[in-house]
Amino acid sequence: MLTCKELLAELNAYLDEDTTPDYRAELESHINECPNCWVVVDTTKKTLQVYKGMEPQAVPDVVSKRLMAALARKMAEKKACH
Ligand SMILES: [Zn+2]
Repeated sequence: MLTCKELLAELNAYLDEDTTPDYRAELESHINECPNCWVVVDTTKKTLQVYKGMEPQAVPDVVSKRLMAALARKMAEKKACH
């Protein structure tokens, strides 16, 4: 079983579909069992979809930074998560 940290490290690759099918299945099984990561993946996907419909230069770096900061807080609260 992957840890949340490992999943987050691969999040970009996962969303870009830049992983092997086997690894993708591993990531997905973690996402399905881990509500924290599910929320992060879902939120990131939606954010990406919104920005994909916009000018490329409109994608602010702060969005991903804010997301990672929010997540770091969550993980600090929930150390028991996998
Ligand atoms: Zn997780």
